[in-house]
Amino acid sequence: MAVIVAGGGIGGLVTALTCHQIGVDVWVYESAQELQPLGVGINLQPNAVRELFDLGLADQLAGLGVATEEWALVASNGREVWSEPRGLRAGYRWPQYSVHRGELQMMLLAEVRKRCGADRVMTGHRLVGYQQTGTRIRARFDTRDGNHRDIDGDLLIGADGLHSAARRQLFPDEGEPIWGGAVLWRGTALGPPIRTGASFTLIGNLNQRFVHYPIGQTDPRTGLQRQNWIAELTFDPDRGWDQAGWNRQVDPSTFLPAFHDWDFGWLNVADLVGRADGVWEYPMVDRDPAPTWCDQRMALLGDAAHVMYPVGSNGASQAIVDARVLGAALVTHGPTPEALTAYEDALRDDISTLILRNRGAGPIGILGVVDERCGGKFDDINDVIAGADIEAYMADYRAAAGFAIEQLNNAEPTIAGTPPL
Ligand SMILES: Cc1cc2nc3c(=O)[nH]c(=O)nc-3n(C[C@H](O)[C@H](O)[C@H](O)COP(=O)(O)OP(=O)(O)OC[C@H]3O[C@@H](n4cnc5c(N)ncnc54)[C@H](O)[C@@H]3O)c2cc1C
Repeated sequence: MAVIVAGGGIGGLVTALTCHQIGVDVWVYESAQELQPLGVGINLQPNAVRELFDLGLADQLAGLGVATEEWALVASNGREVWSEPRGLRAGYRWPQYSVHRGELQMMLLAEVRKRCGADRVMTGHRLVGYQQTGTRIRARFDTRDGNHRDIDGDLLIGADGLHSAARRQLFPDEGEPIWGGAVLWRGTALGPPIRTGASFTLIGNLNQRFVHYPIGQTDPRTGLQRQNWIAELTFDPDRGWDQAGWNRQVDPSTFLPAFHDWDFGWLNVADLVGRADGVWEYPMVDRDPAPTWCDQRMALLGDAAHVMYPVGSNGASQAIVDARVLGAALVTHGPTPEALTAYEDALRDDISTLILRNRGAGPIGILGVVDERCGGKFDDINDVIAGADIEAYMADYRAAAGFAIEQLNNAEPTIAGTPPL
């Protein structure tokens, strides 16, 4: 019984840890020559943290990130529109963490190598296709020496991200990811804590936004903490943008003039961006919901299955949940096509709805309403929108994204008992 995982990102590595936990042999093949701590901040919602705790990673996580305490919406005049507690403070049984993506990936990689074996993650192997061979599947990888290698297994999991080769084989006519007009510029910088010191703060309107959250503890000597920021502007989608990827570095002058007067006293955007180690550009893309994630013994997972706009901070969280739901299906059905179908049936409809919902602004839609009603200018937010209306909107989104408090707190573990197969 062997599962081949293509892609050593968050989804692929959690799949490997889950397979190990339930006693399924697993190999991960990653295209990069070497896995490095790339990216900036990401958020792990309580539903994903629960799964990582169930994998015995509570201490590792606590050492990596900041337990988020608050989620706040702020208008472009710098005044608060809404804030709500998050994580343990909101009553979840599990924290929400803001972490550096690359550090999370490195922690997961170290755990896979420790638990599954040092040779279980093979870098320099790029999936180029697969072939069903009756009761098995054969995956073909291009290797760093210019050759290719065929690997046989019971199942192939395509966790190969935004430009998934597995997805391309399943949907050869799908084309490139779809750009809807927004561009994100991302970076991290050291800065003094704002709000609670553990707040996720979203400022602006639907066309121009700035997101801020800390991903490191405050250094008692300097009073500074590592903070993740994202600046976002919306353009006419017909103008087109360079091909989407996570690794394009640019100069801040590309976008910073648009934020020149965003100095609210408690946060000076230009100052924080000016202190960044680097700025990465990401045209915000997604794909239409896929009509299926499975092809007999192959299943897509994580971004390969359902890349969506990161407006709800749930891309990494969903990849983790995918891996655990797949694990539960493997426990029930063994490493069979039936397991892959059960995994897809459990998730695909709801996630397809979420992809479309995130296109429509997701939880930040409230800032659009405020902008529409008063151009982002007000003294008292209650004159613009009722708190009860915002609460209803937010509760609806939490339920759709799978992190409604009661629903999550009372849910049975995704993988019960974790007996070896
Ligand atoms: C370098 C990088 C930086 C990122 N930075 C951010 C960020 O700052 N903020 C944010 O919100 N999200 C970021 N993301 C995306 C985020 O990690 C994902 O949305 C989320 O974690 C879902 O994870 P995933 O495992 O499905 O995909 P990913 O994390 O994208 O992992 C996919 C993995 O597959 C590998 N791969 C790709 N093609 C092949 C192939 N043909 N064969 C084998 N392996 C392949 C990739 O190298 C990568 O390691 C980044 C992704 C990458 C790859």
